Amino acid sequence: TWEELPLAPPDSIFKLTAAYKVDTFPKKVNLGVGAYRDDNNKPWVLPVVRKAEQILANDQALDHEYLPITGLPEYTTGAARLILGPDSPALKEGRVVSVQTISGTGANHLAALFLSRFYYHGAPKQVYLSDPTWANHHAILKNVGIEPISYSYYDPKTVSLDFDGMTNSLKNAPPRSVFLLHACAHNPTGIDPTQEQWKVIADIAIEKNHYAFFDCAYQGFASGDLDRDAQAVRYFVERGVPMLVCQSFAKNAGLYGERVGALHVITPTEPAADRVKSQLSVLQRSEISNPPSHGARIVSLILNDAGLFEEWKRDIRTMAGRIIDMRKELHLLLTEELKTPGNWDHIINQIGMFSFTGISAEQSKILTENAHVYLTTNGRISMAGLNSKNIRYFAESLDKVVRG
Ligand code: PMP
Repeated sequence: TWEELPLAPPDSIFKLTAAYKVDTFPKKVNLGVGAYRDDNNKPWVLPVVRKAEQILANDQALDHEYLPITGLPEYTTGAARLILGPDSPALKEGRVVSVQTISGTGANHLAALFLSRFYYHGAPKQVYLSDPTWANHHAILKNVGIEPISYSYYDPKTVSLDFDGMTNSLKNAPPRSVFLLHACAHNPTGIDPTQEQWKVIADIAIEKNHYAFFDCAYQGFASGDLDRDAQAVRYFVERGVPMLVCQSFAKNAGLYGERVGALHVITPTEPAADRVKSQLSVLQRSEISNPPSHGARIVSLILNDAGLFEEWKRDIRTMAGRIIDMRKELHLLLTEELKTPGNWDHIINQIGMFSFTGISAEQSKILTENAHVYLTTNGRISMAGLNSKNIRYFAESLDKVVRG
């Protein structure tokens, strides 16, 4: 056995982190990380999370029994309210099915599995993905027998959204196609459609009866405002676009390893929601039996207590604010101080943890080899890896590479 089994390549992001760790250069910079770091380049446990953990630790009534198959009810209802808004008509009408998942990855997987089983009715099993997208989207879809198809998204010439390309893809896809849309802070580009552009996307989706598969991994983390980052999702619900949302608390609550997520399916009627929920329960049962409790309890406390919720919003503003400050400072260093050739406005126009710098694969490699700056070869940098101590070194290294 296993004689014929090929060796799989290591995950590129994890490989990058491993190379960074063994590098002994004192000024090395890791811009590959997909996790928040504070100004000292350290992981940050949100103070509100520490507080919630204390409450849980002191709660003698808590035990380690299994959660229900679809998860902790007060967590899933709180999570649905957070993404859809407290006044969501879909919630009031009982048209939302919410299932607790293994973070955002698990939500994407369960959503893809559900669609693969029940959506296509003999039509080709395909989901349209932005070009580029989070690499795992491709793998998650293929795992459940769905073929990923690319839709135009990024224009390398302008380092901005190829909106014509995107709308053409939406118009030219067969009716009832499934489009995966990043709710906010598009990974890896950091480029989101404007509100006006979302309106056009919704218009076409409705006209063509497309299905919107929203992936929301960065609510609040992008702009610092939970409501603003949920705008596209809420707008699509309001317009009645058939849709689901994958939600993650990895980034906005700093609960990466606790795997706290949810899948929300918005249905046209309450009986449809009941049917969807019954089938999702069957799928979940065979996949994970029931989800883990600890992280969901933390988030549930935060979502259902007005005081903790306010504290959380403050913590979110701390993270988003630091990232936005890094964008401004990098932009300033490149444009004002170093006068680096080219236009760098995309650094401040992009949103969220990631920024597409627009540099080539070759330049990215040189940055790593010569300056010990670790980044993916698509030129994507994680703003969370920058801080007041290393930003000048990074800007100077980037400047050098750009000048050639
Ligand atoms: N979707 C996107 C677009 C992401 O960037 C991520 C995190 N890298 C996820 C989903 C899922 O992350 P997690 O499973 O840690 O919630």
